[in-house]
Amino acid sequence: MRVYNFSAGPAMLPIDALNVAQSELTDWQGSGMSVLEVSHRSKSFVACAAETEALLREVMSIPTGYRVLFLQGGASGQFDAIPLNLTAPGATVDFFKTGQWSAKAIKAAQAQQLQVNVVADRAESNYTDTPAADSFTIDPDAAYVHYTPNETIGGVEFGYIPETGDVPLVADLSSTILSRPIDVSRYGLIYAGAQKNMGPSGLCVVIVRDDLLGKARPGTPSIWNYQAMAEADSMLNTPPTFGIYLLGLILKWVRDLGGLSAMAERNQAKAAALYDYLDASDYYSNPVAADSRSWMNVPFLQANPELDKAFVEQATAAGLTNLGGHRSVGGMRASIYNAMPLEGVEALIDFMTDFETRNR
Ligand SMILES: *Cc1c(COP(=O)(O)O)cnc(C)c1O
Repeated sequence: MRVYNFSAGPAMLPIDALNVAQSELTDWQGSGMSVLEVSHRSKSFVACAAETEALLREVMSIPTGYRVLFLQGGASGQFDAIPLNLTAPGATVDFFKTGQWSAKAIKAAQAQQLQVNVVADRAESNYTDTPAADSFTIDPDAAYVHYTPNETIGGVEFGYIPETGDVPLVADLSSTILSRPIDVSRYGLIYAGAQKNMGPSGLCVVIVRDDLLGKARPGTPSIWNYQAMAEADSMLNTPPTFGIYLLGLILKWVRDLGGLSAMAERNQAKAAALYDYLDASDYYSNPVAADSRSWMNVPFLQANPELDKAFVEQATAAGLTNLGGHRSVGGMRASIYNAMPLEGVEALIDFMTDFETRNR
């Protein structure tokens, strides 16, 4: 029996893609082997990786002039790799601080000897909103501007792309990539760990504009060096082969459902159903400002927080799993990535209504 898995990541994946992977697992493309067992240098796997990249370019409408890299080390690895690749020690960078993931990225940049200028810090709202689009000033001499379009823990999302002039914009899209169309041309660099919307953990996708390649600090480890990885088609060493394969299956699923605009419609409908329910309730609530609410991660509180454990346990028994809030936030959190169907959100709402009736 499949459950509705509301985990923030690794997260629910589309059953159609999992079924294809299952059917091919022991004999991939007539090789008599699984894709887990073939050489990354084999013709068939090199073609598989090229197809995944082509699908990503098609689905995301990635313009020419950008490289796609399939790396390891997760999004967290990029917190360090980005400074190493784009800056010299002592350079100034601008960061938006809107929650825990951007805070971690800031710490890593500081550890890489960058002068971090925080252009907006939403601590005063306890990270429940995003800065107004006209409320910050970008340093025109900054090496780059970094932001986290979707803060997975707080459930806070930017409703706009920050205007940064000629300064390259860098975005941690880990928990929102593939959830809707995005204008890649607005960015210098996009990175995302796969385990939210793209596939299994262990794969990190980097999309980087050509002019940002070739600037790595001397001594940058080669597997973190964008230029070296780009020249080797991400195969300087053994890449995360299964992740690249499964990302390809998931991209086909996205494409066949109508691409990112269809994803946006599905995701908006799911999020609207849940937020409308929360807003109409006098038992449950969501703390995030209306214009900054995430389509992907929905934290919520109940009037009797001492019942949070019971809520999570009873939800699990009802086939609605991983609803516990992040340990730093408390309450509950429903992550409703691409693979979560509307029926899953409706089942959650039904459960919430029932739980309230039994407990208020
Ligand atoms: C999950 C997540 C990360 C961390 O990803 P890892 O692959 O575990 O390093 C970073 N940023 C955001 C926005 C995330 O959601």
